[in-house]
Amino acid sequence: MTDNTPLTDLLKAQIRATGPLTVPEFMTLALQHPEHGYYRSQEAIGASADFVTAPEISQVFGELIGLWLVQRWIDLGQPGRFLLVELGPGKGTLMADALRAASALPGFLPAMELVLVETNQTLRGIQAEKLTAYAPTWMDSLGELEPDAPVLVVGNEFLDVLPTAQFAVAKGGWFERLVSLNEAGDLAFVLGQPKTPVLPLLPAPDDGLFFEIMPSLPGFLKDLGSVFKAHSGAALFVDYAHDKAGTAWSLQAVKDHEKVEPLDAVGEADLTTLVDFEAATTFAKEVGLTAPATVTQRDFLLVLGAWQRFEMLAEGSPDDAPALLQSLQRLVGKTQMGNRFKAWTCHYPPTLPAPAGFPTGSGEASNGG
Ligand code: SAH
Repeated sequence: MTDNTPLTDLLKAQIRATGPLTVPEFMTLALQHPEHGYYRSQEAIGASADFVTAPEISQVFGELIGLWLVQRWIDLGQPGRFLLVELGPGKGTLMADALRAASALPGFLPAMELVLVETNQTLRGIQAEKLTAYAPTWMDSLGELEPDAPVLVVGNEFLDVLPTAQFAVAKGGWFERLVSLNEAGDLAFVLGQPKTPVLPLLPAPDDGLFFEIMPSLPGFLKDLGSVFKAHSGAALFVDYAHDKAGTAWSLQAVKDHEKVEPLDAVGEADLTTLVDFEAATTFAKEVGLTAPATVTQRDFLLVLGAWQRFEMLAEGSPDDAPALLQSLQRLVGKTQMGNRFKAWTCHYPPTLPAPAGFPTGSGEASNGG
C-alpha cells in the first residue's frame, strides 16, 4: 500500500491516461513538481528534518572547501573578478563556512561575485539570511549563467538529485524500470520496453546486469563546459557515489532520517541515487574538460588538513573536543561517510595546476586510505 499524497493521485491519473512513467519522469515530478514536489515544498535538511549533510555535521567541511576554492583562485591567476557558483546550497552552511575561511586571503572576497543555483524558495530564504554579507544572486539552473569572468563551481549532494534512469537485462536485451499501477491500482515498479532515450550509452547486455544513468548528466556537463570555456574555471562536487557503476540500482527514498519505499510518500520523501563519477568523467572529457581521478571524502578532507583543523578547534574549546571528534569521525570514518562519499573535480583549461586534495596523474585510483 502506498501512502496517498496529492502527488500519488496525480501520478496515478497520469499513468492511467498516458501509460507507465520512466524513473526520471517519476523523480522529476516527485522532486520538482511546482506545487507538491519535494524540493519545492519541504524543508529537507537538518537534524529535525529528513536528512543531515556534511556541512551540517561539522564546520570543518565547509572551511576546507573554502581553502580549496582559494587555492583554485590562485591557480587561475588570482583574477580581480570571478564568479563563485554553488549548486543546491541547502541552508547556506557550506558557503558561510567556506567564505569565513576564504576571508583569510586578502583579495578573494573583493573579487568574488556569489551566485546560488537553487529551486527551493524556502531554502533561498534561509540562504539569503545566512549569506547576506556576500550579496548573492539566485538562478534556477547553471545553464542560465553567462559568465564574463572565470568561474568556480561547488556542489555538495547536488548531483545525487538529478533524475536517474534504471535498466536491467532480461531475455538478452535491455528493459527499463518503469512506474506503473498494480491490480489494486497502487503505484508499482515494472520492467518494460526502454523509453528514456539513452540506449546508445548503455553497455552490451550481459545476463543479470543492472544499469543506472542520469539522462541529464551529459547536458549538465556540456553546460559546465560552456561556462568554463567562456573564460576559465574549476568545479568541485562531493557526493554519495557508486564504487563500481553498472552493478546495482541505487534509487532510495529518505523521510525523517529513515529509508522508506520510493513509491511511498511521493513528494514528501527525498529521492536520490548514487552518482556515477566515472560517467561524469567520460562526459566531461567529451566536452574538453580535464577531470582528474576521484578521491574518497576521507582522503580529500584529511589531505586538506581536517585533522589539524580539528586540533585547533579542540584546543580553543576543550569541553567540546569529544563532540568535535565525533563529527570529524562521521565525515572521514571509513564505515561512515568517509569512503562512501567521493570528491570529483574538473577544470578548464587543461594547463591549470593539479587541484589540491586529488591524486596527481590522471586515471590514478585512490586507495581509500
Ligand atoms: N548542498 C547542501 C544541500 C544538499 S540537498 C548541503 O550539503 O547541505 C540538495 C540541494 O539541491 C537543496 O538545496 C535542493 O533544494 C537543491 N536542488 C534540488 N534540485 C535542484 C535543481 N534541479 N536545481 C537546483 N537546485 C536543486
